[in-house]
Amino acid sequence: MEFSKLAGVFEKLEATSKRLELTDDLAELFKATPENEIKIVAYLCAGVLLPEHHGVDLGLGDKFAERAIALVSGKSVKEVETDYRKTGDLGDTAERFATGRKQTSLSRATELSVKKVYDNFYKIATLTGTGSQDLKIKLLAELLSASDGVQAKAIIRFVTGGLRLGIGEPTILDALSVARQGDKGLRPALERAFNMTSDIGLVAELFFSKGIAAIEKIEPQPFSPIRPALAERLDSAEAIVKKLGKCAVEQKYDGLRLQCHKAGNRVEIFSRRQEPMTHMFPDLIEKIRKTRCRNAIFEGEALAVDEAGNFLPFQQTIQRKRKHGIAEKGEDLPLVLVAFELLYLDGKDLTNEPFHKRRELLERIAAGSGVEVSRTLVTDKEIDVQKFFEESVTAGLEGIVAKDLNAPYTAGARKFAWIKYKRSYAGHLADSVDAVIVGYYIGKGKRTKFGLGGVLCAVFDESERRFKTIAKVGSGFDEKELASFFAVLEELKTKKKPDNVDSVLEPDFWVKPKVVITIVADEITRSPTHTAGATETRSGFALRFPRITVLREDKKPQDATTVKEIEDLFELQGK
Ligand code: ATP
Repeated sequence: MEFSKLAGVFEKLEATSKRLELTDDLAELFKATPENEIKIVAYLCAGVLLPEHHGVDLGLGDKFAERAIALVSGKSVKEVETDYRKTGDLGDTAERFATGRKQTSLSRATELSVKKVYDNFYKIATLTGTGSQDLKIKLLAELLSASDGVQAKAIIRFVTGGLRLGIGEPTILDALSVARQGDKGLRPALERAFNMTSDIGLVAELFFSKGIAAIEKIEPQPFSPIRPALAERLDSAEAIVKKLGKCAVEQKYDGLRLQCHKAGNRVEIFSRRQEPMTHMFPDLIEKIRKTRCRNAIFEGEALAVDEAGNFLPFQQTIQRKRKHGIAEKGEDLPLVLVAFELLYLDGKDLTNEPFHKRRELLERIAAGSGVEVSRTLVTDKEIDVQKFFEESVTAGLEGIVAKDLNAPYTAGARKFAWIKYKRSYAGHLADSVDAVIVGYYIGKGKRTKFGLGGVLCAVFDESERRFKTIAKVGSGFDEKELASFFAVLEELKTKKKPDNVDSVLEPDFWVKPKVVITIVADEITRSPTHTAGATETRSGFALRFPRITVLREDKKPQDATTVKEIEDLFELQGK
């Protein structure tokens, strides 16, 4: 397929946030896509080269893209930079320079294909070693020289992460169904397949080549991560028992969620966002290997423990995740793995089995392996749930997760199969909010030397796939954090408001929405200064007295708290 087709659709999609139109345009594109290219087209639409678990990341710096644009347009890097400062968007600059270019390039004679674009992107993402930088610029320049303005814009947006959020898997799944059947009826089956494989390209390809029957047969496979089940929230034992009746309550551990895959001797570990993490946890591998089974997929929290065997909070556990000093950290910060779910065992998909059965099997395979299992209590009494909650909090944990004994594993969805009930202090929200930083303010007075005065934070609107602001946060950082945080944000600075951000406030600098932080606040109020949850007749939601607690590196921007969750929290607080 010609790349111009895909770039044309991106251009059109950019102009609308209406889901219906988006779906129809995308369905038309899929209809026109040959079967052997649907896989890469689906990836490119999702804004990725491969699923997260392949560990291939394209994200190039702006400087790099500027050099490629300069090379092709015959302008100096300085001229490109000056234009970028004017347009505020490197994609727009690429478009202007391509349009202004004399169309004499030989390669313009042959149409750029989607496959060629994908292949070059792939090489750019994977080349390493001496000389690779120059080669990467050449590969990018090769694409640009064969592009018109619209194509050049799409290419630059993609490589610099401007398309990072892509179109969103839910819309892609709808569009696949519409392309083949004329309506969205096949979405549930396609979505299930996606949740089981975390691979939108694979699902698209299988669906187009073998049809829906093959999609329905997809089962979990070791080393292909399953999208995680998520918990709803309630704020009392009474509400939990009313909702679930007899249920299992478990301690909620504040560690790092891991999905462990084992087949024979091979073990792989994936993060909550499906990144490969095996190399980070050499001390857990042996324990996972010793579980009593041939093959399995199970989930748990990895937690650092101190000398007395007490669990340490998330911040300290996550230090382990950092690439540097893994070996030393292994020694002074021993980790335990507390398992709480079993999804697959010895060739059998367990995701549709009731929770109580999965739990029984989990206990059986973990016994004697060194992998621990979460503390649990099965009860239908409110008083027991409350007591269990209080004990957990006293033990320094976050709270509890109550589980529906008969529910299947709700991959990729936030459902009442799991309900979290978290510790909160008087006058505080029932839960913290994971927000994305979209801008920052320059420090004044005492803070000037760290550069950072505060950050503008947003939550995720799933239906529009945009980030909507909810708080301006200036407190919570200590001085050391402030300085390192500032360096991260500097890297992400953009010259104008990113298209997928909705804000009435204007920070001193906009940043690409990438960094997720956890915020605690006293309550949610209505405020005209924020856009989260705002409609024509109602103001948006705002967090009152927000404080940053921790960086959530294990969450992608799309995994941030959603506007819908904020609405639920607002309701909860009303009660
Ligand atoms: P939070 O920030 O509250 O951990 P989250 O957004 O990471 O929330 P949620 O779905 O809201 O994820 O809450 C469930 C999370 O709680 C799981 O992702 C898991 O990491 C953690 N957890 C800790 N203990 C348990 C347990 N016993 N059972 C299930 N999940 C648990």
